[in-house]
Amino acid sequence: MAQVELEKVTKIYDNKVVAVKEATFTVNDKEFCVLLGPSGCGKTTTLRMIAGLEEVTSGIIKIDGKIVNDVEPKDRDIAMVFQNYALYPHMTVYENMAFGLKLRKFPKDEIDRRVREAARILGIEDLLDRKPRQLSGGQRQRVAVGRAIVRNPKVFLFDEPLSNLDAKLRVQMRSELKKLHHRLGATIIYVTHDQVEAMTMADKIVVMKDGVIQQIGTPFEVYNKPKNLFVAGFIGSPAMNFVNATVIAKGGGIWIKTSGFEVKVVKEHEPILEKWIDKEVIFGIRPENIFDKLFAVAPQPENTVTGVVDVVEPLGSETLLHVKCGEDVLVARVDPRTQAQEGARIDLVFDMNRIHVFDKDTQEAII
Ligand code: ATP
Repeated sequence: MAQVELEKVTKIYDNKVVAVKEATFTVNDKEFCVLLGPSGCGKTTTLRMIAGLEEVTSGIIKIDGKIVNDVEPKDRDIAMVFQNYALYPHMTVYENMAFGLKLRKFPKDEIDRRVREAARILGIEDLLDRKPRQLSGGQRQRVAVGRAIVRNPKVFLFDEPLSNLDAKLRVQMRSELKKLHHRLGATIIYVTHDQVEAMTMADKIVVMKDGVIQQIGTPFEVYNKPKNLFVAGFIGSPAMNFVNATVIAKGGGIWIKTSGFEVKVVKEHEPILEKWIDKEVIFGIRPENIFDKLFAVAPQPENTVTGVVDVVEPLGSETLLHVKCGEDVLVARVDPRTQAQEGARIDLVFDMNRIHVFDKDTQEAII
């Protein structure tokens, strides 16, 4: 068992910078939990507090039910993999991986067994005699992970471990880390600002902004049911479209009205939106939920909007259209067979089951 719990954990630097504010979340045994957010949101500080490298200003951190606030980092049974890998340049790969165990006075043959086992798991057996400078970025990254694995810790902490790798290697290491997670059956807390990394690897995502947790959920939940405007805009690429709108009652139904279009909401959303009639809201729809009418399944006048194509971006498997509707530009991810021409009019169809509506003042999700 290796469960990590944070209860109202706050970190204030120098009596003034609130880096983390009352963070409360639980990472379950064997869970892959990603702390996600833009630069400066407090992810690294949270990780460092869990590792014991940073003191907690207030709140409680528990590992396996035991409060560890005053437990030394070395006694927390945690291994951390840093962004820059922090390998010792004068040591070989073998020595780098063995170092932590040597310090802890493990017997030589046990060290050897563990280093070779970790090297086998990571496919770096041939590199054990090399020095870090003789390795590629991806190989260094594996050594850094290997150094954590040999300790057989309760919890692995990763601080943006892929950010120094090129795009292709990052994709490869992403799936390797995921496989490794299953293989080790380990509890992992992983920090990144990259929403794709979070979506592809996490069992649970903790989204942070300005030191405050915005949402905790599975990748599916944070993508499909974002709690507020920030989460909705941060997760997904291209980002969700946001348009200033008013909720109106018309012809026995409820409609969303913007400067460029009017669309009718589905029956299921009516009871929630009734309270918002004549109020200003922010309407949100993801690019993949907007279709070129020529390829739409169920075009109806009440889910179709007309605009003028601003930009056409063919990507091969799909085409992105930037379409001006009134004062707003919507991005649509449409069928690559689209006939859309820049400067020409186009009819777009919304999947009204997949819309989002946010309170303009609080920015909290209404739908
Ligand atoms: P990044 O992705 O850029 O590493 P982050 O989300 O990990 O960012 P943190 O490094 O945790 O964010 O920083 C959170 C806030 O705390 C920032 O405003 C940062 O400037 C501040 N901060 C971090 N470390 C210190 C420190 N040692 N002293 C004072 N302020 C700090």
